[in-house]
Amino acid sequence: MQNTAVPVITIDGPGGVGKGTVAHLLAKKLNWNVLDSGAIYRVVAFAAEKMALSMDDCDALLKLVTTLTPTFSTDNEGGMNVFLNKENISARIREPHIGTLASQLSVYPSLREALLSCQRQFRKPKGLVADGRDMGTVVFPKAQLKIFLDASPEARAIRRHRQLLAQAINVSLRDVFAQIIERDERDRTRAVAPLKPAEDAIIIDTTTLSVDDVFSQVVLHWSARSQEKIA
Ligand code: C5P
Repeated sequence: MQNTAVPVITIDGPGGVGKGTVAHLLAKKLNWNVLDSGAIYRVVAFAAEKMALSMDDCDALLKLVTTLTPTFSTDNEGGMNVFLNKENISARIREPHIGTLASQLSVYPSLREALLSCQRQFRKPKGLVADGRDMGTVVFPKAQLKIFLDASPEARAIRRHRQLLAQAINVSLRDVFAQIIERDERDRTRAVAPLKPAEDAIIIDTTTLSVDDVFSQVVLHWSARSQEKIA
């Protein structure tokens, strides 16, 4: 059950746009909880791959979802630690091919539905910053503030590539770019909960902005929204 009295800020956008970084900075500043919803889809993809399930077998994937009990925690640097059956799979779920598998299985409406309550459980006092693709449109449609971050595919590929290298995941920029284009296409065109800004979302194009610039803009939007509520 989610606590609807707890405020939520949603940060949606495509892969590599920097949602996770901004979400963690904001959660730290406000002393709120953070939800990296992509990690949940990645855990399912990781477990499905381990069990050699086909991404075409929706029934088997759905069954798998009902048996998984991952646990999540945030480390001091704002990174997300993910454990499955006591195994720390935080780094393994970040591998690019797991992102591709996650985007393949995330097209199934029944699977998305099954993951809703897990995501909403993150809504705990004092507040939640939730990042993903459908946080503002589907999972938290009444969020107090909705941000949609965007950037050119080139800028996102460079950022994602840098992130992966920092995690010692060696992959070429060309491959990262190709994966970003492929995933964008699938995420934007799927029938249910496609990647798109909520009607009441504030859209920020981050192509030429630094993380600090984006973070400052989001903080300003939240301050303004909080003032509106008081007035
Ligand atoms: O954000 P991240 O790259 O970790 O997400 C992996 C994939 O999971 C995305 O490409 C998308 O297909 C799926 N996803 C989703 N809805 C979310 C978060 C992630 O469909 N809220």
